[in-house]
Amino acid sequence: MTPRESRVLKGTITLPYQWALGPTNTRFFEEFQNKRIMGTRCQQCGRVLVPARSFCSRCFKDMDEWVQVKDEGTLRTWVLINFPYEGQPKEPPYIIGLIELNGANNGFSHFIGGLKNYRIDFLKERVRIGMRVKAVWKEKREGTIFDIEYFKPTE
Ligand SMILES: [Zn+2]
Repeated sequence: MTPRESRVLKGTITLPYQWALGPTNTRFFEEFQNKRIMGTRCQQCGRVLVPARSFCSRCFKDMDEWVQVKDEGTLRTWVLINFPYEGQPKEPPYIIGLIELNGANNGFSHFIGGLKNYRIDFLKERVRIGMRVKAVWKEKREGTIFDIEYFKPTE
């Protein structure tokens, strides 16, 4: 038998699943219906983390003190998604930003929107690390991450 190239079968696997939110994530998302973004504070290191967590990832202490943070903050980094792939939350192009909300000590990922266009030359001028952004809430909220349409620049 002579060596030959490996044969490859191509196919698609879909994986429907359900994810039990648990009490901490359930409350976190339910508060969105009242336009409240909640974090939890660690009694040991004092950090407020958003989304709310049941324990501190640094100290491994329970985090059961709930704290409301602002729905505005500072953009820490961002990325433009301008190509389609499986499982995207919306049609590209769109921007995902890492936002440090006022009152929180970590980054919260969400869309950056309300921009005139998504041309990279425009975005390089308009979207910058350190700029202030504020949540744009949907009129009808259902307790999901999409209750916030996006964060818009306020400067
Ligand atoms: Zn801690």
